[in-house]
Amino acid sequence: MKYIVDHTKKNVHRTAFAKDECGFRETPMDEREGTYDESYLKNLEKQGYVKCEHCFKPSFQYLNSVLLGKLFKK
Ligand SMILES: [Zn+2]
Repeated sequence: MKYIVDHTKKNVHRTAFAKDECGFRETPMDEREGTYDESYLKNLEKQGYVKCEHCFKPSFQYLNSVLLGKLFKK
């Protein structure tokens, strides 16, 4: 999974789920950073960066539907 770090808004997006609501498209290119490094992201979170609700939330719904699908499939 690749992530986009927005240094202006101090949030992190998932490239595959990023959409217009994320707002990072208004952020200048040199304030954005792409990374695959999970430990780097953990460090950023300690510095007050937050995961974007727009592109991190859908995965939980997706995971839930996968888990529920497994529960009900026999
Ligand atoms: Zn986002």
